[in-house]
Amino acid sequence: MNSSVRTTCPYCGVGCGVLATPGGASIGIAGDPLHPANAGRLCSKGSALGETVGHEGRLLAPQVLKKTTDWDTALCTVAEGFRRIIGQHGADAVAFYVSGQLLTEDYYVANKLMKGYIGSANIDTNSRLCMSSAVAGHIRAFGEDVVPVSYADLELADLIVLVGSNTAWCHPVLYQRIVAVKARRPALKIVVVDPRCTPTGASADLHLPIQAGSDVMLFNGLLSFLSARGCEDREFIRAHTEGAARALDVAHDTSGSVAEVAGVCGVSPDTLAEFYELFARTPRVVTLFSQGVNQSSCGTDKVNSIINCHLLTGRIGRPGAGPFSITGQPNAMGGREVGGLATSLAAHLDLGNAEHRALVQEFWQSPRIAAAPGLKAVDMFEAIHGRRIKAVWIAGTNPVVSLPNANRARAALERCELVVVSDCVAETDTTALAHVLLPAAAWGEKDGTVTNSERCISRQRAFVQPPGEARPDWWIFCEVAKRLGFGSGFSFRTPHEIFLEHARLSATRNQGSRAFDLGALGSLTSAEYDALEPARWPLEREPFRDGRYSHPNGRARFVPTAPRAPMHATDSEYPLVLNTGRIRDQWHTMTRTGRSARLMQHAPEPYVDVHAQDAQLAGVCAGELVQVTTRWGSMVARLRCSGETGRGTMFVPMHWNSQFAGDARVGSLVNPAVDPLSGEPEFKHTPARIAPFVVAWQGFVLSRRPVPIRDATAWSFTPGPHCRRYELAGRRVFSDWSLWAKRMLGPDVSNWQWIEYSDRSIGVYRAALLHEGRLEACLFLSPRPDLPLRTWLSSLFAKPTLDRRDRLSVLAGQPARAGADAGAIVCSCFSVGSGTIRAAVRELRLTTTGQVGQRLRAGTNCGSCLSEIAAIIAAEQSGETSGQSRGVIDSGVEATAPAVSS
Ligand code: SF4
Repeated sequence: MNSSVRTTCPYCGVGCGVLATPGGASIGIAGDPLHPANAGRLCSKGSALGETVGHEGRLLAPQVLKKTTDWDTALCTVAEGFRRIIGQHGADAVAFYVSGQLLTEDYYVANKLMKGYIGSANIDTNSRLCMSSAVAGHIRAFGEDVVPVSYADLELADLIVLVGSNTAWCHPVLYQRIVAVKARRPALKIVVVDPRCTPTGASADLHLPIQAGSDVMLFNGLLSFLSARGCEDREFIRAHTEGAARALDVAHDTSGSVAEVAGVCGVSPDTLAEFYELFARTPRVVTLFSQGVNQSSCGTDKVNSIINCHLLTGRIGRPGAGPFSITGQPNAMGGREVGGLATSLAAHLDLGNAEHRALVQEFWQSPRIAAAPGLKAVDMFEAIHGRRIKAVWIAGTNPVVSLPNANRARAALERCELVVVSDCVAETDTTALAHVLLPAAAWGEKDGTVTNSERCISRQRAFVQPPGEARPDWWIFCEVAKRLGFGSGFSFRTPHEIFLEHARLSATRNQGSRAFDLGALGSLTSAEYDALEPARWPLEREPFRDGRYSHPNGRARFVPTAPRAPMHATDSEYPLVLNTGRIRDQWHTMTRTGRSARLMQHAPEPYVDVHAQDAQLAGVCAGELVQVTTRWGSMVARLRCSGETGRGTMFVPMHWNSQFAGDARVGSLVNPAVDPLSGEPEFKHTPARIAPFVVAWQGFVLSRRPVPIRDATAWSFTPGPHCRRYELAGRRVFSDWSLWAKRMLGPDVSNWQWIEYSDRSIGVYRAALLHEGRLEACLFLSPRPDLPLRTWLSSLFAKPTLDRRDRLSVLAGQPARAGADAGAIVCSCFSVGSGTIRAAVRELRLTTTGQVGQRLRAGTNCGSCLSEIAAIIAAEQSGETSGQSRGVIDSGVEATAPAVSS
């Protein structure tokens, strides 16, 4: 029997422990019951990890100018290109753009190479896009980038405030941990502050749907309120902080009464007063925040406005209390530790401090050290566009999809003299533009460490060999460094050796001045490193428990935060606010989770979620294709009116790339405004509009084999368990649909059976292709989006043959039996659809998620879908049906009336 390898999940910042058990062609995946982050739980994405580790689509060999080559040739090409450009234009003419997906050891050598050997600080990371405002806020307040809370504090808190965080979908295991505490201890209060009514609100006692961008006003108002109520911890403020008076003055001057704050924030005064009272009377408060706070042109001020409230009340550095920034990526925190941001130095040292720079240079024995901050992500790509940066190495990230104003990022790379991309995936929007492609090892093939949101360092361990020529990222960076003539600093043979250097640097001349100190791990043997158990830094204490902060005088600083409006206001041309973010079952740009057919079923198509009245004003209905447009770009998506978005706002998932949809990279629509301090982009506030996407026909193809997409103005692709699904829409009308369909589905099918139905009077065409009675493909076209049920049709591909009734029902476009359609997948773990759940709730009179779990297993594994099951139960109890207010259409998109294709 194969033994399990203890490793960590490569997705979100919860950092769950995973037991991976290789077994022939498959990998068994389970939660690690001994890992402190998850105690055996995994969410839907983590549970599906085994489905994403195959070699299909992998980059297997180095390439130079699209031609496969050997490693030495590729590495020399990179080194020669960088050397030439540095020689001609200086060190700041080159850049690295790396990723929170890298392991700490990869990150460490990349940062060392750029800052200590090349001599520029032009290394930035995609973590800039998700938590750099928290980093800047921590440094301003604490003197160091330290998260002063751990997951255990959530279990001790009496009030948890979730701000700008759809924790239920984006950090599901942590959310389930909160839900479990609430179940054990109903007195725990949960407040959600979010413009959207997301599934996270399901277990909240209070939801504040504030106006996008009004967070600073909300927390300034709270600071003022706390002061007026006499909630200050005067002894704590006197002994451990500075700047309280000034911050309070600014808060008083800019906020006003509860009613005035409520007016600006767009919430009811009673609700706001309830929140303020709750905060005021609850000593143990954790304020947990993520991208809704950070991704803003005033993100750093938002962070500090939250921290100010905790400093004023002394609710920090104590059990069950503190501000808690949770990171989006598995190793965003590790990247911060090694100085992977253009604005920081390794080991939490300060790039702006000459003594710190000298310390690092001396420790590294490096020929030089970057003297000034480098360019942050958005500025870096602007510099590439302006040809000030002439060579860029992109490692483990897909900026052509994920950056704001992403079409400009693509244009920048098209203009760049040398684009090097190291990645494990062969075809992405970014690898398409590379001059040199370097095949990197993927999750399951790499060894090293990651640090999660609560500062817990865990081992990521390899359990399979990298395929082809793929190599770990640390090795690739070291080999290029050697070819640049820096062999002495990069002679590492293992990640263990890199980790030891990283740990020792953190302890150098530290003496308690920096909380980040891994000195105790600096002499681990190889065996000890291999066996390293999860360890939270600071290693022997909780941060700030002694009231000493990392500023030179040991005090925490209040930061005055005057509210600022988002950079770009809505107007009559762009009247809605576009907000982007994650959905439950996808990760980043879908290069990995998109490979899991199971995960793709929850939301198979790109969608935009808009308030029903805004949709009506724009002349569009739920279920239709719409065009979303901003000043920076446009995209096509299916319209959803779930009720989650308020008037004047819209939400679009961030994930779709050009491999999964023809025109749905939402990054190309996002404005490029950034926070002036952190450089974090304003992903949550771009003025936008929606309009009908006018086409002559819409349709879809389900097929066992890949289908070349022809003549479609818009398309999306979804892998499924039994067949591929292609959603199509077009403007060109063909006189002979049958001929067109046969051409598209393949020329080699003449001996297969083709059955079809056509009604030219209403423009409907349906066809199915069978081979020896088995369904091979089917195609449906109509002028309207009222197309047959995809989930029901997909289920027919599981049958060995179609009987006569099945064939007739395919051509009729509806199941012969009622209840044959499972509906859009709600529970990914057990593939339970909304139709199945709804029918069970109705027929068996189920009233709780537990009862649904007992009957259908739905929600009994990872629990990520529990809030959706609860919503279905509530809808059934209130008499709503699939054709009414929150129907789930079979494409996985929730629609308001009229329900489409369900
Ligand atoms: S919550 Fe899910 S995605 Fe995040 S680390 Fe855990 S299993 Fe992975």
